[in-house]
Amino acid sequence: MRIHHLNCTTLCPPGGRLMDGRKGFAGPAALTCHCLLVEGANGLILVDTGFGLQDVLHPRPRLAPLFLNVLLRPRLVEESTAIRQVQRLGFKPEDVRDIILTHMDFDHAGGLEDFPQARVHLLADEYRQATAQASALDRGRFRPQQWLAESNWVTYPTGGAGERWFGFECVRDLQGLPPEILLVPLVGHTLGHAGVAIQTEDGWLLHSGDAYFYHGEMDLDRYRCTPGLRFYQKLMQTDGYLRWYNLRRLRELVRRHGRDVTVFCAHDSLEFELLEEREKAPAESPLRSFLAPVSESTLPV
Ligand SMILES: [Zn+2]
Repeated sequence: MRIHHLNCTTLCPPGGRLMDGRKGFAGPAALTCHCLLVEGANGLILVDTGFGLQDVLHPRPRLAPLFLNVLLRPRLVEESTAIRQVQRLGFKPEDVRDIILTHMDFDHAGGLEDFPQARVHLLADEYRQATAQASALDRGRFRPQQWLAESNWVTYPTGGAGERWFGFECVRDLQGLPPEILLVPLVGHTLGHAGVAIQTEDGWLLHSGDAYFYHGEMDLDRYRCTPGLRFYQKLMQTDGYLRWYNLRRLRELVRRHGRDVTVFCAHDSLEFELLEEREKAPAESPLRSFLAPVSESTLPV
């Protein structure tokens, strides 16, 4: 299965390197909305959608002012949307048959409407939290304007049954999807947050969504996170205990199986650049062998 790494809108929050940790970078920070486009045998599969066309055209009232103008400041441009990137790769939007969501935050679910024919796979707990709209924070992060018209939901219970995946509970046999793709519950940021594991010829990829935000959080010698992203993660967590529990489990996964599993998150621009580079490097390129597999020694530090 060929996999494309797409940045479906750059977030430009204030704080510069105090937010993204990039050296020598003045002005706003740059965070990605890292999505995947998987070329499956029966059609295309998107993992997360980033922001969509309607977010670009009508950011208000679709997006909450706190996130739009203060905390994340997305650079909303049409060419960054998943639908335009799918088209640039030579596909039709209707080729996208399935979308898997790590969670339903506005910066992950904004493009759902651009693929109305696709089934949307996610954990049932996530759907419940998003639609309950139970707190002011939840009403700001889960935006019904982005998905009220969606009717092709396919939800799964969080407690995965059957064989574990590297020690993690997981949901296998996603409806209509190849067996190489699994949902791995990583609860904490939200109640139904999940990673998406994909088996490739080069090993496993684990898109960890917002289970962590900064590559230094997977640094096995010393946990590191920028002050800005520490603040943001704490602000946005629904269950802090479970968020830290799952973060520790992810670090353990990298420590034990870093050669078999490439772990990355949605918003770290350095991880995105590394994986995009690896995707584009031809098989015989020395760069490719340098970068693959991403293990504890080659994870960006
Ligand atoms: Zn996010």
